[in-house]
Amino acid sequence: MKEILLIKNGELALKGLNRASFEDVLIKNIRRRLSSLGEVEISKAQSTIYIEPRDEGFDFEEALCRMSKIFGIAAFSRAAVAKKDIDEILRTSIEYLGDQLGGAKTFKVEAKRSDKSFALKSPEICKEVGAAILRAYPHLRVDVYNPDKLVVVEIRDYAAYIRCGQLKGAGGMPVGTGGRATVLISGGIDSPVAAWMMSKRGIRLDAVHFASPPYTSMRAELKVKKLLSKVAEYSTTINLAIVPFTEIQDEIAKKCKEEYFTLIMRRFMMRIAQRMALRNKSGALITGESVGQVASQTLPALAVTDSVCNLPVLRPVIGMDKEEIIKISRAIDAFDISIEPYEDCCTVFTPKHPKTRPELEKCVVEESTLDIEGLVERAIAGVRYEQID
Ligand code: ATP
Ligand code: MG
Repeated sequence: MKEILLIKNGELALKGLNRASFEDVLIKNIRRRLSSLGEVEISKAQSTIYIEPRDEGFDFEEALCRMSKIFGIAAFSRAAVAKKDIDEILRTSIEYLGDQLGGAKTFKVEAKRSDKSFALKSPEICKEVGAAILRAYPHLRVDVYNPDKLVVVEIRDYAAYIRCGQLKGAGGMPVGTGGRATVLISGGIDSPVAAWMMSKRGIRLDAVHFASPPYTSMRAELKVKKLLSKVAEYSTTINLAIVPFTEIQDEIAKKCKEEYFTLIMRRFMMRIAQRMALRNKSGALITGESVGQVASQTLPALAVTDSVCNLPVLRPVIGMDKEEIIKISRAIDAFDISIEPYEDCCTVFTPKHPKTRPELEKCVVEESTLDIEGLVERAIAGVRYEQID
């Protein structure tokens, strides 16, 4: 018996003329993600993508697990393939569904007949398949309203497909259809979630992390890499730039008023991130800021940081409560890493009384004692790159 994977596109279906190219990106992403599992043949028809393994020992469970992390997929399932002949459909259904119906008490059959030349109409297919299942598995009953298991028989152009339910996909848009953006990634809870959310909209990610050794340790850096690799399970490869930030923080601490430390530091981060972004042809910056969470995330403070950027700054968690952010963090398996205790550069120089209603002019005056251009250039000259898969 031949088994394949079926994939239903999500929002793609709405994209009119762009649909074909969006599907092509999705197929490329699927192919890349499954490549280490063996050779597969991928085809598409009627907003369904068909994945047919070429190898005998194809690991379907692992493939399903990877599939659940590919953006642009609304739903997916494994399915048995049968010739378009009702006897063969019945035989295959019984053989294929045995295990999957094992724990169920009730089921329902749904038939979809996109090949209208098939001799039986949908209600007749349902009746035949339903009756065959009842004969083969007498412990089952039919329940059309609230079945434990839904059996779907689809009659398509080339074959019939039989499956038991389907899994919900990650949704969103295929990564690569939304351009690139550079995420400022800390070791905290919010920025990995922000990165994941933008990746879900089809954006390919680059990442910038500011490290301040010896105030921050290698373990803090390792934590950031672990967080990004969680995001990369969805977003594919992320290029991480690790920027040395110690000199900048030392200079700010030496020459600026304490109440402006955080803001001036954040303005440096944005300047540097923007230059890195322009090098990568990134169209935007991404941060994990949320209004009111800390002093540097009030509206006036955000205005002061934004004023050093020309690129749009995407802040997908801006209106979310911590609880809501944590829910996503847990769902993508990042939370336990985020709460590891290593110091981030932001926490090293936290002023006791930060400005919550800063004025841009005063901040600029404070900053003017620093050699901004020289500091930025030296930081960028010291960048280390890592590829996170
Ligand atoms: P997070 O949980 O993402 O660390 P946070 O609530 O702790 O966020 P801040 O520490 O004020 O907030 O940082 C705000 C944003 O600035 C972060 O979401 C992140 O995008 C960026 N950021 C902070 N520290 C760093 C860093 N060391 N390297 C890169 N970006 C950073
Ligand atoms: Mg932080």
